[in-house]
Amino acid sequence: MSPKELILSAIARDEDRIIDFLARLVRAPSPNPPGDTRQAMSVIDAELRRFGIPSRLLFAKDEMPNLVADFRGARSGPHLVLNGHVDVFPAGDEAGWSRSPWSGLVQDGYVHGRGAVDMKAGTAALVLAFAYLHGHRDSLGGRLTLALVSDEETGGRYGAEFLLKEHSELVLGDCYVNAEPSSVDAIEVGEKGAVHLRIGMRTAGGHGAYTHQSPNAIRLMGELQHDLNRLHGKRYETPADLAPVITECRAVIDRLVGKGGGDIIDVVTVNYGAIKGGSSANVLAPDCVLEVDIRMPAGMTGATILASVKDVLAKYEGASMEVINLMEPSWSDSRHPMVGHLSRNAERFSNRDVVPVLSLGASDARFWRQIGIPGYSYGPSPDTMGAPDEAVKISEYLNILKVHALAACDYLSET
Ligand SMILES: [Zn+2]
Repeated sequence: MSPKELILSAIARDEDRIIDFLARLVRAPSPNPPGDTRQAMSVIDAELRRFGIPSRLLFAKDEMPNLVADFRGARSGPHLVLNGHVDVFPAGDEAGWSRSPWSGLVQDGYVHGRGAVDMKAGTAALVLAFAYLHGHRDSLGGRLTLALVSDEETGGRYGAEFLLKEHSELVLGDCYVNAEPSSVDAIEVGEKGAVHLRIGMRTAGGHGAYTHQSPNAIRLMGELQHDLNRLHGKRYETPADLAPVITECRAVIDRLVGKGGGDIIDVVTVNYGAIKGGSSANVLAPDCVLEVDIRMPAGMTGATILASVKDVLAKYEGASMEVINLMEPSWSDSRHPMVGHLSRNAERFSNRDVVPVLSLGASDARFWRQIGIPGYSYGPSPDTMGAPDEAVKISEYLNILKVHALAACDYLSET
């Protein structure tokens, strides 16, 4: 039997243990913030040790371990990096959940709990794909690296950014793959960028009856929002190499994230996430703070959007701006061999065509793409991602494991 067939039969043999591994990982809470992922990472570390695979833990922050393991094949070849994150969204109000967010319950064909979809199923699949390939390293070429991070949900400073800055010799490769929730019939070849801003407004303030004495910061913030709304829906020139992907994936995006999702792939969106200001009805509010999330299409840069926002702010005396987070849009060649390997192997387990798409959200793939390493995402359906009662379909989890193991095997057998 070929290594690919041997890996598939090992996955079939180990199915119960594979499902149990994900359940245990979900039962180890790792909400970020606050971002203490030690328990979750130790579940993974122990699983790798059961396969006899050594790994290294690398820290930018004590409670946020990053894990790196790698092996070389029997001959030279390309270096593939598999990347997943172990931190997850906070569970929010537990009253909204039917079960504990950290139940890890295996029921009705699903593993239940916060992070099951984003992205503990994907991370577990990559860990096991790495482990099964490790068992066949003598028949592979090149090098395979597993790079797991603890800080993706809040921007990556202590995770991917730290690894690429401080340990680049370990995690730079020729190709990068993650298993973020893309949907099982879509391969993400790029993603929109995002800029998160905190905009402040200050005025002298005063008594609510004396509206002639001072401007009201809340009223001014309303006017400023009106100006920012003009950015929403703005279209920018699509990079030529992405135009066919965008045209072809609109309908797929509509199906994955709801009608209208396909229309906003290549436009700016503006979302107001939080607003605070003033103290009571009869006071001229002296302050107001607005948190804004602006998403940028491929082809646009953070500098362009920040310049547009600054133009708006310049109209308002007392307005200030703080950049909380800036993630540039990123994309890779949709004709790269890895896209072929992922889609061909995914189509073995899907009755739809598996197509390249762009993601509306941001992921760690951008860190690799931005330094010229082609990066792709393939993972479960995004349904219930970040919502109460998050749950991943076990059949999807098993298929993602198979697809990543087989695609990596194809890539490392190329030479
Ligand atoms: Zn994620």
